[in-house]
Amino acid sequence: MKIVILSRNPKLYSTRKMVEAGRARGHDVRVIDPLRCYMKIVSHSPEIHYKGEKVENVDAVIPRIGASITFYGTAVLRQFEIMGTYPVNESVAITRARDKLRAHQLLARRGIGMPVTGFAHSPDDTEDLMNIVGGAPMVIKLLEGTQGVGVVLTETEKAAESVIDAFRGLNVYFLAQEFIKEAGGSDIRCLVIGDKVVASMKRQGKEGEFRSNLHRGGSATSIRITPEERSTAVRAAKIMGLNVAGVDILRSNHGPVVMEVNSSPGLEGIETTTGKDIAGQIIEFIEKNHKPGKTRTRGA
Ligand code: ADP
Ligand code: GLU
Repeated sequence: MKIVILSRNPKLYSTRKMVEAGRARGHDVRVIDPLRCYMKIVSHSPEIHYKGEKVENVDAVIPRIGASITFYGTAVLRQFEIMGTYPVNESVAITRARDKLRAHQLLARRGIGMPVTGFAHSPDDTEDLMNIVGGAPMVIKLLEGTQGVGVVLTETEKAAESVIDAFRGLNVYFLAQEFIKEAGGSDIRCLVIGDKVVASMKRQGKEGEFRSNLHRGGSATSIRITPEERSTAVRAAKIMGLNVAGVDILRSNHGPVVMEVNSSPGLEGIETTTGKDIAGQIIEFIEKNHKPGKTRTRGA
């Protein structure tokens, strides 16, 4: 197969591992920077060019599109889809998962357990917004945050109100959320490929930190998950329409709750923690599933 990895940086662990895994299986794998792809948008023979050359006859594309380039990156991916290239994750699914609010609504609609979440536009509604999520303590998070930045635990309603006022003053959207105290500063990352959780790890925030992000000094261990957690993770990925996803789950008193579904899950933490070859499994998934023009949406 001819495989393209859309990634800004070929040196990143996840990108490198997928290049190696693909080449080890005899595929022609090339990393291209989505920001250097440009498109000819026409009815009959749509094209993608990369640094002056046409990109043609690609069997599969692996998108590794960072949050900061979602708009342009998904447009390039969509162009590949329109040209019939098989995407391991399709553009519409990535867009769905990236928009935290949209993702929450879609998951909740299908009965996936979630922390009770509130969203409001007007400052006049702050008090009732806090009531909806059960009052303090609660978590306030920036809608566009990543790696735990802009995720705040507020112990009192006064504190919540001032964080909310601050976010409003900055003109950014935020979610108010029930605090899942019993998770004890840990969460579970489930790596889903197709209809299976192929690896999972528990991430624990450092002492005194409720955020378990590895970027914030959290540590990871391998963990055995329950059948309920397994099916929750697989269903969450499926609802987003993602074939490959990192589903983050908290263990709450009311069962597993999904916090987020990542469409470009990092491979380093999970491979190092579990000793599994996730990159290889992603390539195998593509070998089994790729077909020209095979997407759920073809970009629409
Ligand atoms: P990001 O996408 O920036 O990582 P998250 O929403 O995943 O932001 O939050 C970061 C971390 O904070 C999570 O991994 C989890 O450990 C913790 N956290 C987030 N929301 C809650 C919550 N409602 N209750 C308890 N802990 C939470
Ligand atoms: N790579 C990050 C992770 O796995 C997030 C990627 C995304 O925003 O989809 O946690």
